[in-house]
Amino acid sequence: VKLGEAGGMVDVNGADRRQNNGYLRVMQWNLLAQGLCQSSDGFVLCPSDALDWQFRQFRIIEELLSYSADIYCLEEVDNFSFIEGYLSKLGFKGCFCPKPDSPCLYQANNFGPDGCAIFWSESKVRLLKQDSVILHDDKNRETNQVALMCTFRGLAGNMKDKDFLCVATHLKSKLGYDELRHQQGKFLEKYLRQTAAEIPLILCGDFNADPQSKAVSVLKASNLQLKSTYTLLSSDGAEPVYTTWKVRAGRKGQANTEVCHTIDYLFVSGKQFQVVQLLKLPTPEEIGPGFLPSYSYPSDHISLVADLKFVEFDHI
Ligand code: NDP
Ligand code: CA
Repeated sequence: VKLGEAGGMVDVNGADRRQNNGYLRVMQWNLLAQGLCQSSDGFVLCPSDALDWQFRQFRIIEELLSYSADIYCLEEVDNFSFIEGYLSKLGFKGCFCPKPDSPCLYQANNFGPDGCAIFWSESKVRLLKQDSVILHDDKNRETNQVALMCTFRGLAGNMKDKDFLCVATHLKSKLGYDELRHQQGKFLEKYLRQTAAEIPLILCGDFNADPQSKAVSVLKASNLQLKSTYTLLSSDGAEPVYTTWKVRAGRKGQANTEVCHTIDYLFVSGKQFQVVQLLKLPTPEEIGPGFLPSYSYPSDHISLVADLKFVEFDHI
């Protein structure tokens, strides 16, 4: 389904789903830590079988492989070796940066700490440099959140011989932490300006912050000139209505809470990358009455997938 001319978008959920079109395909996904989903998360509407690792592991791999991405930016990964075991057989390498004090470690029978991971196809890009940073607050104190960075050189197609930086991050969650998220957003924006101002950027993450938040605004207003790819899905340039939709059990006799909003983003340097295709978000009917996660969707977060075309400077 072609929605526009050059620069428009094609729904990669249809005929193109498994066919990578030669541009750089990047996937952003908070895949939901196994260590949290059956306990502290309180997903009351999700059948417990759907959260059982024996079932969910295959849904996670299916979700990753469905879109044939060249680069995967993932959060809440507490099963890096498991995913690596599958993706390595398909020519991917990966790296992982755990959170300093992952809440997963406090759960019984946990899989280890959760953190951010990046996987890349070795036939599409070569890793030049890997880096990670603990996000700091305004008083320069370390927080419990990280960003993982990989500098790549394109090996194929439109990206051949182009260098770019790819970042995966996961900001502080929960109500009442807007100011900390703002400070983490400021820290990351400054860090990227100081270390990567000259290089095209792909910044993916679960920012736990809605489009009007200070944390997201600081990135959108940055000199890094980031474009939020999913705003291109709407005619008015608005972000999607949701990238996560779930109901959590109320605490101590409180009512259950339904949360439906956009907190995941796939930003790119607006000057160097043109968005060619985006994966459509599932409709409310597709998501279904039990919301996320479910038997069909292994995470409470929706996958974002973008096909990116490198734009030569003199063509701008
Ligand atoms: P965050 O506040 O960032 O949240 C941790 C995880 O909980 C996220 O992955 C988040 O998912 C999920 N989450 C979000 N909202 C809720 C909710 N309402 N109910 C349940 N889970 C939710 O965690 P921090 O990184 O700040 O870590 C918490 C700290 O708490 C750690 O430093 C650890 O020491 C401590 N801790 C201690 C425990 C103990 O038993 N002593 C237990 C757990 C944590 P998403 O991002 O998708 O919203
Ligand atoms: Ca979560």
